[in-house]
Order: sequence, then C-alpha cells, then structure tokens
Amino acid sequence: MMTIDILLTGAAIPSARDALAEAYTLHHLPDIVDVPAWAARDGNRIRGIAATNGVPVSGKLIEALPKLEIIAGFGVGYDNIDVAAAVNQGVVVTHTPDVLSDEVADLTIGLLLATIRQIPQADRFLRAGEWLEKPFPLTATLRGRTIGIFGLGRIGVAIAERLAAFGVTILYHNRRPRTDVPFQYVGTLKDLATQADVLIIAAPGGSETHHAVNAEVLTALGRDGILINIGRGSTVDEPALIRALENGDILSAGLDVFEDEPHVPEALKAIERVVLLPHVASASVHTRDAMGRLMVDNLRSWFAGKGPLTPVPETPWPQVDA
Ligand code: NDP
Repeated sequence: MMTIDILLTGAAIPSARDALAEAYTLHHLPDIVDVPAWAARDGNRIRGIAATNGVPVSGKLIEALPKLEIIAGFGVGYDNIDVAAAVNQGVVVTHTPDVLSDEVADLTIGLLLATIRQIPQADRFLRAGEWLEKPFPLTATLRGRTIGIFGLGRIGVAIAERLAAFGVTILYHNRRPRTDVPFQYVGTLKDLATQADVLIIAAPGGSETHHAVNAEVLTALGRDGILINIGRGSTVDEPALIRALENGDILSAGLDVFEDEPHVPEALKAIERVVLLPHVASASVHTRDAMGRLMVDNLRSWFAGKGPLTPVPETPWPQVDA
C-alpha cells in the first residue's frame, strides 16, 4: 500500500501524534541529526508537514522538500511558517482558528484581573506568612477603565464579549474597522493607547506588527496604564516595555508571550508587580486536543482530495489563478 510521508517538526500532543502515526509514515524533525543529508535521501518523499507551534518552518526547509503539498500548522498564529516560500512553491498552509478562541479569551480575562488586582502577588504574600504581620496592600481596579483591544479578530471579539459583562468601555484598533461589532473603532494604535488605560494585544505576530507597541505607544497608555499581551511577543518592543515599567511610565503588564521564548529577560522577572505566564493561553487538554484534531483533519481532508479545511488567507482554497 502507498503510504504518505509526513514531517513532524517538534513535540506533538499525544492524541495528535497517535493520529498522525496511525495514518502516515512519520519523520520526526528533532530526531534527525543531519537535516541536509536526510533531505537529500528522504526529502522527495515528504508530502506534508505537521508544524508544531513555535518551531520555525523555514523557506530553506520548504525548498528542500520538492514534493511538499501542505503544511498543517498547530495553532492559529502561523508567523513561525515562511508562508511566502510556501506560496512560491504552491504549498497550502493551514492553521487551527476558532477552536481555541474561547480558551484564549478566558485566560486573557484571568490575566487581566490577576494583573490589576495582583492575585499572584497576594498568593505569594499569604504563603510567605506576611498576612500575620499586615494586610495585603490595596490594589488598582478594573472599575471605570477603558479597554483598548489591538487586533479585534476571532480572539479579540471573544475577549470583548467577556469584558462587556464587566461594564467597562471597549475600543479597538485593526487595519480596517468592522461593521459587525458594537465596539468603537480607533484609527491608529497610538490613539487607541491614548484613549484607553488597558491595552490588550490580540493581533498576530510577523513583520507588520513587529514592535508596534513601542515607547511612544506605552507613554500614550499612561502612568495608570496596563498592558496585556496574549498575541505575540514580537509585537512589543520588550526593552522599551521594561524601561516603561521601571520608570513608572505605565503601571503594570500581564504577559503570556515574549520576544525570545522561552527566555524571559531577568529585568522583567525582577519587576514584582508584573504577571508573567509561559505562553499558556490555549494550553488546556480540551483545547489542545481540539487543535490537534483540526491539524490532523486538515491533512486527512487534503490527502483524501477534498482540499484543506482551514487554509490561511495567503493560500486560499479553492485556488484563485493569479
Ligand atoms: P484573527 O485573524 O481572527 O484576528 C487578528 C486581528 O488582528 C484582526 O482583527 C486583524 O484585523 C488585526 N490585525 C492583523 N494585522 C494587523 C495590523 N498590522 N495592524 C492592526 N491590526 C491588525 O486571529 P485570531 O483572533 O484567531 O488570533 C490572533 C492572534 O492571537 C494569533 O495570530 C496569535 O498570534 C495569537 N494567539 C496567541 C495564543 C497564545 O497562546 N498566547 C493562542 C492563540 C492565538 P485587520 O485584518 O482588519 O487588520
């Protein structure tokens, strides 16, 4: 029987790895010691890539696989995949939208409340026995705040819908205003930061948003301002953020993503009032299983000749002739 060879680029959750191993002949990139030698020997057998979140799929790797048809990403963000190289080679790229939006939005609300009300700090205070000596210091509040969402897409809307129940004002900035939401559009990111006192980043990473949140935007957010980032670390100029926190240009930050994961600057860790999470917004068993299923279903659908289920916008399906 003809088997289909798939390259798995990193660690996969057990349910996805089992499903892939059952359906395909798997090549596991981390186990390949000499990639060029492997590519010369086996490269022309690989018809699909199962791309682990965060592991780069470079143009060089794509070019080394002449029979590659599809790159199925695990995650909705795909800034780890060289999509331009895939387009160039006629390779379809898929991702896992929607199935994680609620989970990420739930975590975002948790991170926002944890940051404003200093929930991890209060927990540390109690465990250290400090409550026996004095009450925990009073904190900032969500009451009366204006929330600016940078990137009101699938996840941004899920965040805004949850926030609406908190009775806060919600503004947003995208490249284009939406006609299907009740939230007020702001034309530039700097104006959004000026008008809001909480800035939530739910925009994608990549060159277009690289360091979009810079010193100027942080200063515009103001001394009472709070930055929440669940999008991508590359969107924030991290040294500028550290300076803004150290100088009191903004009040605090809650971060799930960083510029050089899993490395987090010591200067950031040294700031007691920030809340730092190890990129866990979608990381429940329920949601990771759903993401894995959608990644594998994209491959199954493709190799059954039915096209991809959730292609990225750059590789739309059915294909449109240039
Ligand atoms: P969507 O594509 O639905 O939403 C992205 C939004 O960002 C759109 O509203 C888009 O609007 C806006 N946007 C894109 N580029 C720009 C830009 N250059 N300037 C301003 N706005 C922009 O994606 P999702 O909501 O599904 O996911 C968003 C991101 O969240 C992912 O790309 C990923 O990076 C991140 N994520 C993080 C997770 C985590 O674990 N922390 C988990 C899941 C996702 P418009 O096109 O009009 O500009």
